[in-house]
Amino acid sequence: RAKAAGRGRAEIFDETLRRQLNQRAALEVAIATGLANGEMQVAYQPVMEVATDRLMGYEALIRWTRPGVGPVAPDQWIPVAEGSRLIGEVDRWMLHEATRQLAQWRAESPAAPGAPDPTIAVNISGRHLADPRVISDVADALEASGLPAHLLVLEVTETVLVDDPLANDHLTELRAMGVSIAIDYFGTGYTSIGQLRNMPVDTLKIDRSFVASTEPAHRELVALMIRAAHTFGLTVVAEGVEEPDQLAQLKAQECDQAQGYLLYRPMPATEAGALLRSPQPAGSL
Ligand code: C2E
Ligand code: MG
Ligand code: MG
Repeated sequence: RAKAAGRGRAEIFDETLRRQLNQRAALEVAIATGLANGEMQVAYQPVMEVATDRLMGYEALIRWTRPGVGPVAPDQWIPVAEGSRLIGEVDRWMLHEATRQLAQWRAESPAAPGAPDPTIAVNISGRHLADPRVISDVADALEASGLPAHLLVLEVTETVLVDDPLANDHLTELRAMGVSIAIDYFGTGYTSIGQLRNMPVDTLKIDRSFVASTEPAHRELVALMIRAAHTFGLTVVAEGVEEPDQLAQLKAQECDQAQGYLLYRPMPATEAGALLRSPQPAGSL
């Protein structure tokens, strides 16, 4: 009897596992089809200079509208793509589309005198960063678009930087090409502030969980991250700014740039292009 019951449980487990594997495989096929059929789009979220309120650039965020299903949030499918070679396809598509778009905007209307030349930030997954092909993928996108390398920012997570020497080498090579590197989700991993000095990065993005926290200890930590980053010559971007007092606090802490719903939500390309052409406040100089 016990044996029979045990086998029953194993069968249920097999069934659940099989269903999960099937769902995953189906999602992988849907992602690949989606890329091939033009179901992906890019949303652009403005990144603003805190001291002057000027538009510094955009973060490119992928958007997928699945036919018959509707919009599927990146968190629901990017991890699946990251589990397979598909993530390379996603990143390559994004690199090409985002660099092409910024190059087009620049060609249509050059930056007004005194206005910053806008940058575009693209998220690169850890798995892709560990693949030597990432170098030619980035070079290809720059060549195809004609975008100057210094206007492209690659966002990577800190875990990759700490754990993977190969990924580190690739970042060093990418930086030598003139591309900037930003650490995304900073503060959520195991990186100590001191390690920042030795990392091949230019920008630190403070995770929104710290920005949103009202705990005095967290606020102090944000101030510390900003001071340390500045000591090492890094630019600091605060993410997920939703409240005016968060922005005021960041300004007092001399955070360089901010991104969040309080400022702008991610927007379609047409809106982002129009924003780029709208008058900007004068710089601080
Ligand atoms: P991320 O790179 O940290 O992107 C910021 C996320 O925070 C975006 O979510 C953005 O819409 C959201 N956000 C911005 N401001 C606020 C705010 O004030 N409050 C709140 N609650 N959220 C805010 P999204 O677009 O859903 O992207 C989620 C994550 O998916 C990204 O996090 C990134 O890790 C990944 N991802 C998105 N696009 C791509 C891509 O093209 N390639 C890769 N590899 N990953 C991507
Ligand atoms: Mg990002
Ligand atoms: Mg982020």
